[in-house]
Amino acid sequence: MTDCDLCGKGIPAVIPVRTYPPLLRFAYPEGVWKGLCETCLDSAQKTYLEVNRNHTSCRRGKCSLCGSKTGVFSVELQIPDFSKGIVRKDVDVCYRCLKLVDEAYVRFKKAQIDEEGRIHGHEHVHPHH
Ligand SMILES: [Zn+2]
Ligand SMILES: [Zn+2]
Repeated sequence: MTDCDLCGKGIPAVIPVRTYPPLLRFAYPEGVWKGLCETCLDSAQKTYLEVNRNHTSCRRGKCSLCGSKTGVFSVELQIPDFSKGIVRKDVDVCYRCLKLVDEAYVRFKKAQIDEEGRIHGHEHVHPHH
């Protein structure tokens, strides 16, 4: 089990998102991998699309993913809560991370489609003998 780096939910596998924390720039010039659950990935990608579509202006804040103090945007998380069901919470994510989330999202969706295609394809290639 791993925990999602945004909502903290424990899931079997998180979706890797590369971030570039400014404090670790020298130790990890290649970036640091964070892991997001599918729900958070979806929400962050939605924010990314909205920001691009509406030219939303950012606020000053601290990015929840890379820790940069920079311009950030709100991403609405849906955090599962045992007593209250789903709790909504806003976190701040910088544009750079949102863009990396979008890349991770595209990669993840493509892998899903490939996987479906593979399973599906397999059903049809039954050898006739
Ligand atoms: Zn999450
Ligand atoms: Zn960031």
